[in-house]
Amino acid sequence: MLLIVHGGAGNRRPTKNALKKLSESLSSGYEILSSEGTAFDAVVKSITILEDSGIFNAGSGGNLQFDGVRRLDASIMNGKDLKTGSVIGVEGIKNPIKLTRIIMDLPHVMLTNVGAKRIADAHKLEPLTEPDKESLGILKKIKKKEKEMVRIYKEYFSTVGAVALDKYGNLAAGSSTGGIAAMLPGRVGDTPIIGAGTYAENSFGAVSCTGKGEFIIRLSLAKEICMNLKRMSPLKAAQFSLKRLSKIGGKAGVIVINKKGRFAIMHSTKYMASGYVSEKGIVVKEGVRLAT
Ligand code: ASP
Repeated sequence: MLLIVHGGAGNRRPTKNALKKLSESLSSGYEILSSEGTAFDAVVKSITILEDSGIFNAGSGGNLQFDGVRRLDASIMNGKDLKTGSVIGVEGIKNPIKLTRIIMDLPHVMLTNVGAKRIADAHKLEPLTEPDKESLGILKKIKKKEKEMVRIYKEYFSTVGAVALDKYGNLAAGSSTGGIAAMLPGRVGDTPIIGAGTYAENSFGAVSCTGKGEFIIRLSLAKEICMNLKRMSPLKAAQFSLKRLSKIGGKAGVIVINKKGRFAIMHSTKYMASGYVSEKGIVVKEGVRLAT
């Protein structure tokens, strides 16, 4: 059994608080795994905790778009049966990952705000609070200087994601984000796109990505890494694809696990808040290039 989480890749050093929250998320997710729960449920639980924290660019902490509105993206995938659920640009919902879980059991796979919001309301999902002064201040600052915006685009990745392997040999992956700070309303990154930001398939592996979605989408990064797990170790597969990404100008971070429980936490950015938990305990780092 293994669970890995990330809190985004970028040039900004993750805070102690962020690392503490990752530990909490790992420990709650692992509790599910060790009490006979599934990889899938552990991924949903871990991401929910990160969305609730307000510390990461997801759920309560999601970035504001250029017009001051939070529109959140998320996706999950169950490696056992390839079932997926995804939401794009959902407004006013605190836990998009819970919404993807509900959508997964509908005849659809992906919903944008109009439909997603109705489903969330019908299921009485918790509402998102209005943006606080700090988030509004950040947006104001970005809007004031275009140069600042470029910097923010390089530094403010803190999307969250998780991948897990349970005792039954099932794999699962999930990701949740507020996108990129001050992005144009309607912009969609990799996070809600199955195969780009998230992918899981029991006979290969599970992957969640973070970084500038515009590049990740072009390579279908999560799926590419997953398919390469057939002939490469998680480390090699992650390195191979991150190299390909950098050739087109992209930087990212990935968490990768294969069907045997070997894994890699790799990033081409300076930092990636991330960690893993196994029967040996929890390891959380501000930037790691770990692999087994
Ligand atoms: N991948 C996310 C996006 O492009 C951003 C991030 O990883 O923080 O929307």
